[in-house]
Amino acid sequence: MLSPLLLAAARSERMRGLVTSMPLTRGVVDRFVAGDDLGAALGAVRELGRDGLDVTLDHLGEHTREPAQAAATRDAYLRMFEALDAGGLAGGADASVKLSALGQALPGELALDHARDICAAAGRAGMTVTLDMEDHTTVDSTLETLGKLRADFPWVGVAVQAMLRRSESDLRDLAGHGSRVRLVKGAYAEPASVAFQGRREVDRAYVRGLRLLMRGDGYPMVASHDPRIIEIASALAAGRPPASYEFQMLYGIRAAEQRRLAEAHRMRVYVPYGADWYGYFMRRLAERPANLVFFLRSFVSR
Ligand code: FAD
Repeated sequence: MLSPLLLAAARSERMRGLVTSMPLTRGVVDRFVAGDDLGAALGAVRELGRDGLDVTLDHLGEHTREPAQAAATRDAYLRMFEALDAGGLAGGADASVKLSALGQALPGELALDHARDICAAAGRAGMTVTLDMEDHTTVDSTLETLGKLRADFPWVGVAVQAMLRRSESDLRDLAGHGSRVRLVKGAYAEPASVAFQGRREVDRAYVRGLRLLMRGDGYPMVASHDPRIIEIASALAAGRPPASYEFQMLYGIRAAEQRRLAEAHRMRVYVPYGADWYGYFMRRLAERPANLVFFLRSFVSR
């Protein structure tokens, strides 16, 4: 019941104003977001690195309607690569990019051009880039952009959402040699016409996708906190070389499990940072009602 409401709130400007103006929200946001600025993100990367965890960094922002804002997002990524490189933190690191933050909804090829600049700079720093997947209306455009980027930067990866009915067919196209695919359940409210609605159906679709990826000769990125999924993925990966797949989790979620997995597998943590945390934060609340209780309790307990 709560999840659809929270996901609808994630797109509401009125709710954004309300939630972001509450002074006490910050403490809860900090559980999921590394900080407002690059310095905080670098601190998180160092700390995770000490525990043997790789990272993918996300400069928070989405649904950009202004070309200037899209350019500012690109520039933030360029600064991130420079800082990671200068700090000796770029090797093995990845950047997660939302094309909607780069102007995907704007006319022309602005988002593609910005993404090209980002990939070129990431490549110079020895990093990779993964395109986040947003709501279902953006999937065709994201996969089209991925194809264009991969012509020049074959290591660009993409997230695929198991909850979408189309994803199994997308995964068959994407599971080939050299591809990097991050399999996720899906974080957006989607209609039944395009997405499985029940947890079990989504989980089953995830496992089908996992089998496809693990059988293929690409690089599967298993992004889930679900213990059952992790168990199945570990079993499916047993025949693969250790460097041919990885696990991924979000910053602040199941931190002890992240460290445990890192002992036997490559483990990457998705580290979001930046001032535009609202949409990301609301999706994390929607994923787990207990997070909402925690959030509300922070007001009551003052
Ligand atoms: P669930 O069944 O939702 O959760 C399993 C268990 O994990 C829960 O019981 C709980 O213990 C824990 N858990 C899960 N979520 C939370 C939470 N928010 N807070 C606390 N505990 C939690 N989605 C997209 O649509 N596009 C993307 O590009 C994308 N990128 C992602 C990148 C990474 C690295 C990860 C890990 C997730 C990404 N997601 C993305 C989100 C994803 O789609 C799911 O919404 C999210 O991962 C929750 O699903 P789950 O597989 O963890 O399983």
